[in-house]
Amino acid sequence: MDSYRHKGLRNKLIEDIRSKGIKNENVLEAMGRVPRHLFMDSSFVNFSYTDKAFPISAGQTISQPYTVAFQTELLDVKSHLKVLEVGTGSGYQTAVLLELGARVYTIERQRQLFLEAQKTLAPLNYKPIYFYGDGYEGLPAYAPFDRILVTAAAPEIPQRLLDQLSVGGILVIPEGDRFGQKMIRVIRESEDDFMRSEHGHFSFVPLLRGKNS
Ligand code: SAH
Repeated sequence: MDSYRHKGLRNKLIEDIRSKGIKNENVLEAMGRVPRHLFMDSSFVNFSYTDKAFPISAGQTISQPYTVAFQTELLDVKSHLKVLEVGTGSGYQTAVLLELGARVYTIERQRQLFLEAQKTLAPLNYKPIYFYGDGYEGLPAYAPFDRILVTAAAPEIPQRLLDQLSVGGILVIPEGDRFGQKMIRVIRESEDDFMRSEHGHFSFVPLLRGKNS
């Protein structure tokens, strides 16, 4: 359950993230509403409101709150936009996108996480559309998307995801290998024009091909 103590810790975390340079008030407020402690592995629950990534099931991680805020800010999420999230993981980032009013399609390749995220999100009344599969392929049947957010690092931007971005749409993805990754934003300016910009260094688990039972 959520409590006043959790809310107090959360407010401190939000101030910490703000002091690190996140300016978008909608993003900060959205994160202020999501009970991160309910998305954590029980071993680390006491550290839920520290600005760090932690292990979750299947050898994956729940992203650092600053990183969640940074990616969400770059994505420029607005109410009612159709968002594809690749890498559901704990579901924490999914909840932040839903708090911003987005319609979220989220895909995860680890079956255990695909199932666990639903168990976490449903009782909190968060209702994304869940998919178990390979996010490298995107979701062609549901494209185009106004926004695409990838929460695992790819050696290069998957062409299929660019194809599934609407004109005017934005893709945010960490690009690189385990030795170093840059945050990339791509804005689709027209059918054929993609404007790419780089936004600093991060550390994510890798985007892997295929799905894992
Ligand atoms: N947003 C999540 C981040 C989890 S880490 C959170 O904050 O909890 C990244 C996730 O991407 C992992 O769960 C991993 O299994 C998943 N992933 C990696 N490659 C993938 C792929 N090709 N398709 C879908 N999910 C993928």
